[in-house]
Amino acid sequence: MVVLTEDSPLTKLVKKGEAEQLARTKGLHTVGDLFEFVPRRYVRPGQLTDLSSLHVGEDVLVVAEVAHATSRTMRNRRGKMLTVVLTDDHGHELDVTFFSAYGHESKLRAGVRGFFVGTIGAYGRRLQLTHPEYELFDDDVQGQAAVEWYRTHRVPVYSTTGKINSLQLRRLVHTALDSVDRIREPVPEPVRAARGLLDRAAALELVHRPGVDEQPKRGLDRLKYDEAFVLQTILAQRRKAAEAELATPRHPRPGGLLADFDARLPFELTAGQREIGQVLTGELASDRPMHRLLQGEVGSGKTVVALRAMLAAIDAGGQAALLAPTEVLAAQHHRSITAMLGDLALGGMLGGAEHGTTVALLTGSQGASARKRSLLAAASGEAGIVVGTHALIQKHVQFADLALVVVDEQHRFGVEQRDALREKGIRPPHVLVMTATPIPRTVAMTVFGDMETSTLRELPRGRSPITTHVVDGDRPGWVDRTWQRVAEEVAKGHQAYVVCPRIGDVDDDALGAGAAGGSPGSQSSAADDEDAWDVDWADGRDGEGDEGTADDGGPEAPERELTGVYTMLASLRANPALEGVRLEVLHGRLDPDTKEATMRAFATGEIDVLVATTVIEVGVDVPNASVMVVVDADRFGISQLHQLRGRVGRGSAPGLCLLLTQGAGELAAERLARVAATTDGFELAQVDLMLRREGDVLGARQSGRGNSVRHLRLGRPEDEQVIADAREDAFALVAQDPDLRQHPALAAAVAMRLDEEQAAWLERG
Ligand code: ADP
Ligand code: MG
Repeated sequence: MVVLTEDSPLTKLVKKGEAEQLARTKGLHTVGDLFEFVPRRYVRPGQLTDLSSLHVGEDVLVVAEVAHATSRTMRNRRGKMLTVVLTDDHGHELDVTFFSAYGHESKLRAGVRGFFVGTIGAYGRRLQLTHPEYELFDDDVQGQAAVEWYRTHRVPVYSTTGKINSLQLRRLVHTALDSVDRIREPVPEPVRAARGLLDRAAALELVHRPGVDEQPKRGLDRLKYDEAFVLQTILAQRRKAAEAELATPRHPRPGGLLADFDARLPFELTAGQREIGQVLTGELASDRPMHRLLQGEVGSGKTVVALRAMLAAIDAGGQAALLAPTEVLAAQHHRSITAMLGDLALGGMLGGAEHGTTVALLTGSQGASARKRSLLAAASGEAGIVVGTHALIQKHVQFADLALVVVDEQHRFGVEQRDALREKGIRPPHVLVMTATPIPRTVAMTVFGDMETSTLRELPRGRSPITTHVVDGDRPGWVDRTWQRVAEEVAKGHQAYVVCPRIGDVDDDALGAGAAGGSPGSQSSAADDEDAWDVDWADGRDGEGDEGTADDGGPEAPERELTGVYTMLASLRANPALEGVRLEVLHGRLDPDTKEATMRAFATGEIDVLVATTVIEVGVDVPNASVMVVVDADRFGISQLHQLRGRVGRGSAPGLCLLLTQGAGELAAERLARVAATTDGFELAQVDLMLRREGDVLGARQSGRGNSVRHLRLGRPEDEQVIADAREDAFALVAQDPDLRQHPALAAAVAMRLDEEQAAWLERG
């Protein structure tokens, strides 16, 4: 028998073609990968089942003989279907069905004997097994050995695709387990003892080869812990390395820009804003680089907090960069920061304040001359603040003295990108990451586990409560009532947003009222507009051109035609309830001047109802807007809806959010109900995490196979404890042994994990 290690490629065990298939379909490259590939479930036959005593739903293992087999071509699908009738020694029968005869037809001939493992179902009045696992034996010796194995073990069922079935995979894993003489043990013995964990070799045995009375769960728990432990070790090392870096201390300057700004603030900072502000100025003044996550509700005033930190950095002679995930957001930040600064942003210009600075914008779609000016302003130090998209990360962008990097909406950025920005400082700059989506603890500990966190919990005073209702679009009365409510708010002098999932064609306008179906032309959907980040969270695309890349990256075309902005506009214009109401559209594909003009007109009250895409999701601040209708609300994610409705209730009038939906699926309906039930962003974030797959959660910041979690489920409370335990253990270990010299197996596991991450990044290009 070959002797293998966990690093051996699978080609040592299987043919090249099979190895390629395992790599492609399951991401399995090495023997170690195979060990981590855990069964989906276990069937527990334990004993041979008598063909006369079967019932539906039962997991069985039967020994039987193929009586006859027939294959036939299917009408609606390609390929052939195979029906096999099994018999036992007493003439009882059981049907076996394969929807693809391929690979089975040649083996399951009349007269062969074997084992069949599966769950009993029914077709008509006959019981059957569909796609069972099976194993044929040539002689009784072989048969007897197999009988013995099945009698004493649970049968692991792996999720498989293609040519390799679960049974073959099980044999493969068993061969691998028997061929590796020393299984790597990354968790030191004292930690295992303290946590009551199995050793890794025993855990793998239990997971892949459990005895009939054993519980695989203990083995799985150990693998979960391993995953958390290795991740946390990486984070602990990252934290340790960051602590060893030296930043330039940026001391506050009394009577400087920040002081001037504070003196001009039209409102009082909340206690939370003040507190976090102090933490930030303290960290800026230290020679340890700041590495902090700032989270808080939509509208909790994070931007003001970040801006104050930027001003403190400028006061100390440095510059600040603000990195935004989309062009629209970057432009909005640039606008609102310039506006907030007022004459303080007119540095060096006539009419500028004494301590003034300038705010530059740098994006990918900018004209050459504007871009050149911004690059120059950044390099010369003239711009105290440079706002931009990923364009900021490019090599030729230089700063005179970059002191602070603020990253908005971190989950779109990878560690590598953050590092690229940090390299632009003379010394590593301070880093502040803002996220508008509250982060559940599990995610905070894993994805952001190398940072300190601050949370803004209170909303600024003057915010009004928001009530949210789900409106069933199949009930005409309810829909009518929705538009009446909008009309009522307008009559009271308030304004409204109507948010649609897609832009649609301008021509839809001409279809007039009742054209609710929209036109078949454009398939652009919510995901195509720049700020639909809930949807493209998962695909983790990066690079430039967040907008304008409209038709390339969205999800598959939805089954139902979604309401476009223009269709909605036409239908509202024709609605008698809204007679005389001033309506206008806003979306990402309008040219920037039109967008700007429309926004301004809405802000000054010249437009009553803005029919828009999710462009209004972030940064739009019109306190007079009191109602929002989200059309096809089921097409939006939880955090996106939460983000959207934060646009109303910003003034003295209570906010109302109506979620219009038609024929939503079960999961979507639950999402909407949850959003309607609470305005607590933290609670919603937790719900969101439970309802979606982990891959999506880690997706955008950490995309690629190397970065998702295999065994942990971040939405599960019990896994939160595992992560917390592993974190405590890993941080303690790294404090003692930062380079893992005394822990070679752990060092190897860490290196493997980092390799995978690296590979994932390279794959993304
Ligand atoms: P976030 O970035 O957390 O969503 P912003 O910083 O954009 O929130 O603030 C939202 C709005 O609230 C802005 O118009 C801002 O000027 C205003 N704001 C921020 N802090 C306060 C405060 N302490 N009191 C009143 N309004 C505030
Ligand atoms: Mg903001």
